[in-house]
Amino acid sequence: TKLDTSSPWHARAAALQPDGRLFINGARVAAADGQTFDKHSPLNGLRLGTVARGQKADVDAAVAAARRAFADRRWAGKPPRERKRIMQRWSELVLAARDELALLETLDMGKPIGHSLAVDVPATANCLAWYGEAVDKLYDEIAPTADTALALITREAMGVIGAIVPWNYPLIMAAWKLGPALASGNSVVLKPSEKSPYTALRLAELALQAGIPEGVFNVVPGFGHEAGEALALHMDVDAIGFTGSTRIGRRMLACAAESNLKRVYNELGGKSAFVVFNDAKDVAAAARAAAGSVFYNQGESCNAPTRLLVQQDVVPEFMAALQDEARKYLPGDPLDAATEMGALVDAGQMSTVLGYIHQGQAEGANLAFGGRRVRTETGGYFVEPTIFEGVRNDMTIAREEIFGPVLGVIPFTTEADALALANDSVYGLQASVWSGQIDRAHRVARGLKAGTVHVNQYDEDDITVPFGGFKQSGNGRDKSLHAFDKYTELKTTWLRI
Ligand code: NAD
Repeated sequence: TKLDTSSPWHARAAALQPDGRLFINGARVAAADGQTFDKHSPLNGLRLGTVARGQKADVDAAVAAARRAFADRRWAGKPPRERKRIMQRWSELVLAARDELALLETLDMGKPIGHSLAVDVPATANCLAWYGEAVDKLYDEIAPTADTALALITREAMGVIGAIVPWNYPLIMAAWKLGPALASGNSVVLKPSEKSPYTALRLAELALQAGIPEGVFNVVPGFGHEAGEALALHMDVDAIGFTGSTRIGRRMLACAAESNLKRVYNELGGKSAFVVFNDAKDVAAAARAAAGSVFYNQGESCNAPTRLLVQQDVVPEFMAALQDEARKYLPGDPLDAATEMGALVDAGQMSTVLGYIHQGQAEGANLAFGGRRVRTETGGYFVEPTIFEGVRNDMTIAREEIFGPVLGVIPFTTEADALALANDSVYGLQASVWSGQIDRAHRVARGLKAGTVHVNQYDEDDITVPFGGFKQSGNGRDKSLHAFDKYTELKTTWLRI
């Protein structure tokens, strides 16, 4: 099969030869045992390139380089203002490489090129710059104690941070770890997902170019049970910043317990509730926000509000608006700038998603829109935006994270009923409430067990606010100044005066 070269993006894609070698101590190297694996593109199932298959020996080399860099303070010892300048330069280099990074991201994991260009690359650059900007404005503390002593409370970089990230937002998820961990002076070993390794490797090259010294930021691509486990079990890694499934989040805690009790910060799955009351000012706007939030990124978003709790009497109006919105997300060619929904990351993810759709039907939910694989002639993994109606909260499609473009509308009658249903989930990442009554909106927002609650909207987002979950959606928070807490230790120093 030959690649389509009909548009500029197709032509550039055909010419691309991504470098999948490891990045250790400032240089591209092959895996110690020379092993590689083939990476295929979700756009057409064709081979995109080979990637080094990192193993324990490679993780050992990366951690040793990171430790050396931390120990001689080549980065941590720079004044914060100097680290800021370099982080800003890195951010500028990321923006300058926008087209290349966006194309790699799209080819690697399937999202539309327009989104990679407009969202993923700029958000990554913004995150790196923001943490650089923040780091020279953090002051330490003096505790209010006796006048014969001073108790200084200071923050210290931890040392070597292991970052393990998923494939749904490869650049952004990496940046959420790298920004605070590196700005505060740590060294990092990053393990990108085996499904989307390329942009993280380019990010490391750009970091070196910007002036982050060699050994400070290393990338070891490979599989979770190999490179991932080796990092999580490593005796010389001080903390793991993990984003991924709840299943592997458990494993991260076990690895820490089995090794050196390293800190583990888990950002895990979700099954977010989106509650629409009959007094919502604009039911169609609610439907638009719901569709946009679930179908964006092919539904492969941890915070996708896939449980739509809608008050019984507005279900018909909501359903009509929701189906109109869904039509805007029919899958298209990810290399076409107008496309709003691309391909699922791989054949395995597609069959998981289609399996859930069949299960929803088998359990008696009404398939109101979509539900099929499409664009099969391309060889890519495209699934229609899919809407189930008449879903009960105890059905599998309401309990489990599907991680695809599938949502369920669950009717409710009273406010108490809505709150109980919304909170009846092992997850608690985000939630949304739509009501024209300010007291009700506040009451329900307060009652929702979720790390982020949106009122009468869903799409506001900013690097300045924390991101993370209650319950089995994880612990710790990415983004905002709070993320510095994950990668720094508090130290108290008593001084007699
Ligand atoms: P995953 O848990 O399968 O993999 C995540 C990462 O962990 C990958 O790099 C993988 O190689 C690695 N890994 C797998 N097994 C490992 C092991 N035994 N030891 C060490 N590392 C291992 O998740 P995924 O399929 O890549 O991503 C999807 C999941 O990520 C979803 O559940 C989604 O909700 C979640 N997610 C959460 C957030 C958040 O901020 N809460 C953001 C994005 C994605």
